Order: sequence, then C-alpha cells, then structure tokens
Amino acid sequence: MSKHIFVTGGVVSSLGKGLTSASIGMLLEQRGLTVRLQKLDPYINVDPGTMSPYQHGEVYVLDDGSETDLDLGHYERFTSSRLNRDSNYTTGQIYQSVIEKERRGEFLGQTVQVIPHITNEIKNALAKPAGEDIDVVITEIGGTVGDIESQPFLEAIRQFALDVGKENCLYIHLTLVPYLKAAGELKTKPTQHSVGILRQIGVQPDILICRTERSLGRDECAKIALFCNVPVEAVIEEKDKDFSVYEVPMSLVEHGLDELIVRKLHLPAGDLDLDDWRDLLHRMRNPEHEISIAVVGKYAEHRDAYKSIYEALDHAGVAHRAQIRIQRVHSQAVEREGSERLLAGVDGLLVPGGFGDRGIEGKIDVIRFARERSIPFLGICLGMQCAVVEFARNVVGLDGANSTEFDKDNPHPVICLLDEQKTITDKGGTMRLGAHPAKLAPGSKAAGCYAAEQISERHRHRYEFNNAYRRQFAACGMNVVGTSPDGLLVEIVEIPNHPWFIAVQFHPEFKSRPTAPHPLFDGFIGAAVECHVPQSLIPNP
Ligand code: GLN
Repeated sequence: MSKHIFVTGGVVSSLGKGLTSASIGMLLEQRGLTVRLQKLDPYINVDPGTMSPYQHGEVYVLDDGSETDLDLGHYERFTSSRLNRDSNYTTGQIYQSVIEKERRGEFLGQTVQVIPHITNEIKNALAKPAGEDIDVVITEIGGTVGDIESQPFLEAIRQFALDVGKENCLYIHLTLVPYLKAAGELKTKPTQHSVGILRQIGVQPDILICRTERSLGRDECAKIALFCNVPVEAVIEEKDKDFSVYEVPMSLVEHGLDELIVRKLHLPAGDLDLDDWRDLLHRMRNPEHEISIAVVGKYAEHRDAYKSIYEALDHAGVAHRAQIRIQRVHSQAVEREGSERLLAGVDGLLVPGGFGDRGIEGKIDVIRFARERSIPFLGICLGMQCAVVEFARNVVGLDGANSTEFDKDNPHPVICLLDEQKTITDKGGTMRLGAHPAKLAPGSKAAGCYAAEQISERHRHRYEFNNAYRRQFAACGMNVVGTSPDGLLVEIVEIPNHPWFIAVQFHPEFKSRPTAPHPLFDGFIGAAVECHVPQSLIPNP
C-alpha cells in the first residue's frame, strides 16, 4: 500500500512548495523508493491552460496532453515520477466533476455539499496516483493555509488519514521564519500562527520545513517545536539558496529530512545515493566558459513565463561546462530599439512559444539578425512559426507573408490553422497537445543532435507550416527535416547553410533534465560555445 505525504504552505505564498516537494521526491527516489507527485490547486479555473503567464507563469505540458501548473516541471526535472492528468487537479475540475455527477442523478436527490461530496471527490483524486508498486505519493496543496479556497483540500487531507490510517500519512508544513532587521532576530510567530490554523482544522503537522534567510539557532528550533507541538528534530531548516534550485535537496539532507520521513513512514528505503547530483552541482559551480544567450519573448520580464526554457538552457550549459548568461529581451523593445542594439555580443538566440500578435515583428527582426549574422538560433513553436515567416519574407521573397493567427487575409499564409482546429471554438484543452511521434531526415543537423530518426516530443499549438510552400522554401535553403510519421505535419525546419539554425513546432524544453539535457538544447549551446568570441579577443575600435 502506498504511503502519502501532504505538503502544505503557510505565512506567505511563493515559498517554494513545488521545489521542496520535488526535492523530497528526489531524495526518496535516491533512496530506492518509487514515488509519484501530484499538485492540487485551489483556483476555480478548470485547468491552467487558459491562464495568463503573467499570473501563473508557463503552462507545463505532459505527455498525455494535460496542461498543468509549472510546479509539475520541477517534479519532472527532479524525479522520474511519471505524471499524467491525475497529477494536477484544480478546484474547478473537482467541482466540474461533482456537478456532472449531480446532473447525471448519481447523488439520488441528496443535497450536494462541500462535505462530503466535494471532499470525497478530492479524496478520490488523492488516491489516484497510489498503487501497489508505488511507495510514496507526495501531494502538494497549492495556496496558503488560511485561504478560504484551500479549506476543502485541507479538510480532505485530514479525512484521508482517518480513511487510510494515520500511520500511512505524513503532513509536512512549509513556513517562513522571517528575519527582522530592526529587531536583529528571526521571528517564529508567523510559523506558530500558521500551524495554529492548521491544527484548528484538525491537521497536526509532523514535520515543519522553515524557509529562512539566516540559519535557525537551537533556541528558535526549540521554540517552534514547543509552540507547534512537534519534536525538535522535526523542525527542518531550508535556508535561501542564491546559487541554484538544485541545491535545495542537499540542504534538506543536511538537516536529516530524508531519514526523518523514512523513519516516520516506515519506508523500505536503501542508502542515499547523491553522487550524480553532487557531480551536477560541482559542474555548475565550476564552468569553463561563459556565454550569453538572448531569449526574446513578450513575457521577458516575467521569470516564470519561460521557466522550462531557462532550465533547459542551464542543463545544456552544465553539459558543456558553460555558464549561461541569459539576456531576457522584450520583443516589443526590439520593435522600438532594433536587434543590432539589443542583441550586441550574444552567442545564441532563442525565440520561445507564445500566442497573439504582440511583439511578433520584433521576434521576426531578431531571427533575421541571427540568420544573417550566422548566430546559432533555436526557435520553439511560435519561434519556429516566426522563423518561417521571416524566411518567407526576406529570402523566398513572399512580401507580406504571415501566419493567419496574426493576419487572416495575408497574401502568403505560410503558417495556417491545423485542419483539425478549423471547427473548434472552445479554448480550454483544445489545441494539438501532448506527445506525438515524428520522423527526422537522415543526415540533417536535427537527426545528428538526437542521434535518432524517430522521436517523440510534446506539443501545444493550433497553427502549422503550410505545406503548399515546402518546395519553395527548400529551393531557397530552408529544409523540412522533421515531420509527423505520415509526412503531413511539419515538425522541424533547419537552414543547412548556417552554423546552427533549427526551429521546431514542439516544446523540447519540457523533456530536458539537469543530468540529461535535451539533445536540441545540447546542440544549440554546443554551437553557441563554438561561435563564442571571448571579449578579450574582440579588437578595440
Ligand atoms: N500560437 C501558435 C499556435 O497556436 C504557437 C503556439 C505556441 O507557441 N505554443 O500554433
């Protein structure tokens, strides 16, 4: 029978519950256990797919096509936990399912209520990832204890332990212990209050993980333990890490978290093996080169909007012993100030996915810059579509070429709506989503990166390369080198007559791992390292 760990958060939002949950998963896996991770989000949207990246960061796509919260990206980067649509639930989905059951008459006329109907539905969701071969299911509860909208989730995790036995459940509460400069001390009161709220609902946390900018002293730990009703060894410090998120598991191990969990849940764990992880951190700390990669998008100022892309760049950087300096460039700034000024000295350019026409001309401009100056370029989804439009206009000579997403009646629709999308009007979960196979052209640069001719990658799009233009593009030097197995959908284009110019319709960033960078990011960063001209070698004018 699977054991369950519930991770809640208190005091403030953005404490890093996702990273902490992922780190716990990673540590348990490194002790030989099989884990599954799951996130419950309190908001009412039915899925994160239609939510603004400004508010929620990137939408993370799984193999099965689920559009999920970006914390699931942490789960996949830290663990090998298989994720699917049972790995992310929102209040909206829970209510939708209960209301559908009510409409079908499944409640036989009963009054449908938060307790028990909504909480039962949540408990069903909690049980979904469990199974005979799974040692631990880790469920992160989004939001902050005390929020009205989190209440049914907290009530459900309380009931869950009654159903499956308290010995099979562990409650971990992540809180903040702020340092007050004026008083010159760490303050434990917010943690006491937060745990107080949890205990009022009937949840006594077993372990407290305290986020803090300064190390907790013995006195602070003792005080927290006493007021929060936990043994002092269960007060675990998680000090801020300014170097890398991949340090988080190491600091949790230092404070004995893995051992505590294994002991409390009586898990059949082996010894901890962190050799690969230590090696990763060592390589990160000791780069041999530094290169600069520009990421040009309309959410440049928002760190979370291209989260997986930044991570994937770092992973490839580690593989090449290169420190990646990411230049976040706003595509609308390019429209005002020009590529020349904003991209001076970059070693590689990446244009990520996106929707809507804001900043499109800026993206097209930077792609032209990279193509003409032989700067390595990786285009992803909308980034590929912009590369195709740029090539159409400036090389093939198709004046006014565009995607029909931005200009329905343009004279040369080189990017157009997928056939299957033509009758779809609903916005939620209706794109071409999830993993699809593709075949690569032998001898192409892309096939060289993958060292394979059959691949599977995750998608999230409505528009595609218009096949009517394939021959014209090839004649002018842009080749289609990856397609769906039937050859009908274009998945990858490249320019053979350029040091490294590859653009893909899918999202390779979702499959990059810290110890196994994605082949395309690996190739891209490899090319950028090769093209890099050290500042010391640039002659002074
Ligand atoms: N807006 C484009 C499409 O729907 C690209 C999508 C994306 O970049 N994820 O096809």
